[in-house]
Amino acid sequence: MVKTILRKYGIRGGYHDQHFLINKTILDRISEAAHLTTKDTVIEIGAGIGNLTERLLPQAKKVIAIEFDPRLVYVLEDRFKKVENIEIIHGDILDIDLPDFDKVVANLPYSISSEITFKLLKQKFKLGILMYQYEFAKRMVSSCNSKDYSRLSVNTNYFADASIIMKVEASAFSPPPKVRSAVVKLIPRPSPFKVDDTDFFLNFVTAVFSQRRKKLKNAIVNANYILGINNIKQIVGQLPEEFMGKRAENLEPRELADIANRIHMIVRNEAT
Ligand code: SAM
Repeated sequence: MVKTILRKYGIRGGYHDQHFLINKTILDRISEAAHLTTKDTVIEIGAGIGNLTERLLPQAKKVIAIEFDPRLVYVLEDRFKKVENIEIIHGDILDIDLPDFDKVVANLPYSISSEITFKLLKQKFKLGILMYQYEFAKRMVSSCNSKDYSRLSVNTNYFADASIIMKVEASAFSPPPKVRSAVVKLIPRPSPFKVDDTDFFLNFVTAVFSQRRKKLKNAIVNANYILGINNIKQIVGQLPEEFMGKRAENLEPRELADIANRIHMIVRNEAT
């Protein structure tokens, strides 16, 4: 069926991350994982030729399909011309203001996974079922002290519970990508630890992971071009040695938040 559609519209894919999911079992499992109800408005990012969209539509109140390739927008409009609960948005996911939605289900364009994920994590929604490159998915769900623990792991953990619910081989796509894939379940929730200033915390995490092999004391000073704090050496000297002697990759998200809060408080007190 999916291959027939690709042939009918003369679509081959391969550029703009166009690897269409053709494995029916995987398509079914992704839509089932979203537990859609007729109250849910769903966004699908990079709807492609609509193979996942087709499964979401009968279960959801509304599907907002976002696609930036005009050829694929034409396919979606033609394929779903008789369907009422679909809105097709022709645009770049990174440029558009996202409408309100309950769930997001997507086989993402991998080259902009990071940008899309950070954009999504700042939105309010109930559930995400998202296909990523496997290595990216592993970094999202990694814990402190593992080699995949990164800025992405800490940011994801700050905003949501994330878990890998299935791995997907390249043969499930047409054309097959050169990488393995995985589907991540994201459940947004309030942070399990206290952060005084979200922007400062996120910048701090970016700064210390840009120097992940350095002890925190040096990492903060070296990456101060990101933080822009005047007397950074003096501030670092006031922070507990038990943290300063460790590397970012050996600190839990809540410990990183604690240090960011302390620095933020010192900077704020000095400014007043
Ligand atoms: N959902 C389809 C499927 O599962 O077969 C297609 C998934 S394919 C991996 C990614 C899709 O994202 C492609 O259709 C591509 O055109 C689209 N895309 C790539 N960059 C995009 C962007 N910046 N904004 C919106 N869509 C984009």
